[in-house]
Amino acid sequence: MTEFNELAQLLFPTIDKEPEYYEALYPPRNLKEGARVTRLAPSPTGFLHLGNLFAGTVAYRTAKTTDGVFFVRVEDTDQKRKVDGAVEVMLNGLKTYDITADEGVMPDGSQKGDYGPYVQSQRVHIYQAYAKSLVAQGLAYPCFCSAEELDRIRESQANEDIKGYWGEYARCRNLSMEQIKENIAAGKQWTLRLRSPGEVDKRCCFDDMIKGRIEMPENVQDVVILKSDGIPTYHFAHAVDDHLMRTTHVVRGDEWIASAPIHLQLFKVLGFKPVKYAHVAPLMKEENGNKRKLSKRKDPELAVTYYNQEGYPAESVNEYMMTIMNSNFEDWRRANPDESLDKFPFNLKKMSVSGALFDIVKLTDVSKNVISKMPAKKVYSLAYSWAKEYNHQLANLFEQDEDKAIAILNIDRENKKPRKDIAKWSDVPDYLSYMYDLTFVPNYELTGNATPALAVKVLEKYIDTVDLADDKDTWFARIKDMCSSVGCTPNVKEYKADPDAFEGHVGDVSTIIRVALTGRTNTPDLYHIISLLGEDTVKERLTKALQHYKEA
Ligand code: GLU
Repeated sequence: MTEFNELAQLLFPTIDKEPEYYEALYPPRNLKEGARVTRLAPSPTGFLHLGNLFAGTVAYRTAKTTDGVFFVRVEDTDQKRKVDGAVEVMLNGLKTYDITADEGVMPDGSQKGDYGPYVQSQRVHIYQAYAKSLVAQGLAYPCFCSAEELDRIRESQANEDIKGYWGEYARCRNLSMEQIKENIAAGKQWTLRLRSPGEVDKRCCFDDMIKGRIEMPENVQDVVILKSDGIPTYHFAHAVDDHLMRTTHVVRGDEWIASAPIHLQLFKVLGFKPVKYAHVAPLMKEENGNKRKLSKRKDPELAVTYYNQEGYPAESVNEYMMTIMNSNFEDWRRANPDESLDKFPFNLKKMSVSGALFDIVKLTDVSKNVISKMPAKKVYSLAYSWAKEYNHQLANLFEQDEDKAIAILNIDRENKKPRKDIAKWSDVPDYLSYMYDLTFVPNYELTGNATPALAVKVLEKYIDTVDLADDKDTWFARIKDMCSSVGCTPNVKEYKADPDAFEGHVGDVSTIIRVALTGRTNTPDLYHIISLLGEDTVKERLTKALQHYKEA
């Protein structure tokens, strides 16, 4: 037995599998040419932020547009940060946005697929098999340095360009077998370090799918690959997992770029084909003319739960995300207004290098558009689901009469130019408040030529003429007919030609009726509102308004 083999056996006496075993167990995937295998690798901290959703969407779309595989792996090696139930919260959050994995950890916590387990804490024996093999080849070694010793090393490097555990500072790099045995016999704790083959003057280059060519100094650090409890560091787990799970493209936050030289070195030392990286820049926000990262502390909109609470449909968020994800998306959307998002040829190369600007105002616009295209039944069902959780009064109103609710939501909808009043479900209670007596708040303020005096005349007449059996044309013809008897003209042009000749025009007359019935000067189609309010309510509101103007 060589000395390295002996050391490997000493450090990992219970590990009996060789890497070849796992290579055979997790063979290369049988996918068509060009298919990409991507993953989302959340750490279970319980907080799903927009960045996770963004990166998850990028990874998901990359797999989907190439007929590849998208899987979820839970990275729970940092047990201190672990929050119970967090994985389920995160995966269910992603599911809301249609980000569902083909394999890996599922939202109910179960696992699916041939490349598992997909939870890092269940893979420790695998990491250790690879670690043992590195030790046996002399490519990794145990380090017995205490935290204090590492501090001392750092202090002694005050004038060095390159700090850390490397070269001559790597104290345990060349311990003799005797010394190692002594330390172990004495019960000293050890971590396992990579014997870095890096050289100070060499460069590490790679082509990032998003950022393009990246060049950095090669890694020379003898980085820790297993912590003293035998659990791998992110670096080592990433290399082993993404190799064995046959990931082709690693989509992750660009805070990892700095560590890429370590990762590429690990791939090399382990004999793995390197993955391709797609480093995603963080989402940015514009504030007082400056761009800054969205922050957990300052920006509630960073939490994905914010969108659920406000009631932005997932479809809107996905649509908006795509507009900031791929620079050509909006052109594609204009050319394909009704096509599903899944048909968009998502491309990593079209992503922002420096960080996409997330703008809630733009999201709101996109969402208004998305909702305006939804059929009334869908609006009803999504708004109702939202209301059950966040607005019980609305849920109750909906439950009292589902058909009425759908009919209300269908006013000026399902046509070529639908109105765009609703951006999120929390807009709905206000949007239709006047359609229910319970939530109607009168407001008799008038605009234009509509004065209280004119209102008295109009309402007195209208109470007598309104007939809910009228069709729309007859209804409007009646309003026009009324005009001259209240000193107005049914013809706006005629009014404009000689404003002094009239008290107002048909628009003013309509405004008076609209305000009396809804408390607003701008609403969807008044004819439909009237028919849905019903005769009793219409008469009652007209009468109350009339009384108000008389007393004014
Ligand atoms: N678990 C890592 C994180 O949450 C994932 C990084 C990666 O995707 O490789 O930051």
